[in-house]
Amino acid sequence: MQPAILTLNAGSSTVKYGLFARDGVTELARGTLEQTGAAAMAKALEVTRDAKVQVVGVGHRVVHGGPRYAAPALIDEVVVEALRSFIPLAPLHQPHNVAGIEAARAAFSAVPQVACFDTAFHRGHALVEEAYALPRRFFDEGVRSFGFHGLSYQFIAGRLSDVAPEVPRGRVVVAHLGSGASMCAMVGGRSVATSMGFSTLDGIPMGTRTGSLDPGVLLYLLDHHKLSLKDVETLLYKESGLKGLSGVSNDMRTLLASDAPHAKEAVEYFVHHCARMVASLATAAQGLDALVFTAGIGERSAVVRARIVAKLGWLGLAVDAAANERNATVISTPASRAKVLVVPTNEERCIAEAVAAQLG
Ligand code: AMP
Repeated sequence: MQPAILTLNAGSSTVKYGLFARDGVTELARGTLEQTGAAAMAKALEVTRDAKVQVVGVGHRVVHGGPRYAAPALIDEVVVEALRSFIPLAPLHQPHNVAGIEAARAAFSAVPQVACFDTAFHRGHALVEEAYALPRRFFDEGVRSFGFHGLSYQFIAGRLSDVAPEVPRGRVVVAHLGSGASMCAMVGGRSVATSMGFSTLDGIPMGTRTGSLDPGVLLYLLDHHKLSLKDVETLLYKESGLKGLSGVSNDMRTLLASDAPHAKEAVEYFVHHCARMVASLATAAQGLDALVFTAGIGERSAVVRARIVAKLGWLGLAVDAAANERNATVISTPASRAKVLVVPTNEERCIAEAVAAQLG
């Protein structure tokens, strides 16, 4: 039987899986299991049997690695305990990730398993990026800007040398624009700043999440509207962003196709704040040699890319309309001050490669 690496991304109601060859590069299969825990793992065993592969390593997507993990970790009891201790930092996702790991360790007990963190790529930021201007004791306790989407950024960082050989050494802003959205400033392939912070709420607006919001708004909602903690959580994570602003949909395709004035305003809000974030992150990187678009909106929406880059015309950026329209890899004009690229992301492959590296 062919040896294979299994990647798992355990959410609240589903487990997304990928099957890769032992090299961690060749994808054999991927899919979604509509179960969690032991039921999902029984199904995963079935999938690997049907695919006629023998699982030799398992990689898990884990949202939070706390201040500690700057790289993937080979899972043992100590690591599981550490991951459990990060649950207060990511109460919506981390419990499902930990439960997935526990179920997978029971189901695939004989093989090494690796935790791959969304936060790890951003470790090592300067204090001016990592800290909030709160009393220091909160920083020491772990109230910091962690950043997320790190598996996507790491994958893109690895791809850049293939698509534009001079770019990886330079100053790059990567825009991961999906239903969750963030951006990352990289210098020499390492993250120096990112738009998400302590949670996945901060930064640019998303499908249903706010992006940056004056904390004074929260005080007002709690005090004046007497919202409960749960109400505020639901509002910020599930009812805001494109969905809240448009009143139409959280889906960019639907908004682009809609004539409703609020749908148009929501798209303009998204474009405006994306452009602002690029300029802000370019300051953190002290320049901009390339802007990279990735994830659902970034990879597929020529119109959103064109509108974001148009707002960065004052920086000297320009898009070639035809190249942009066909989602080419390089979409900037030769005269553009920075390259503008479209690079599809692949978080599962980033996990599979980490497992392959652990297996040696
Ligand atoms: P993701 O979370 O990376 O799967 O991205 C999901 C987002 O990508 C949703 O808002 C989709 O509406 C958006 N999307 C996917 N395809 C397109 C497209 N062709 N044009 C505009 N948005 C798209």
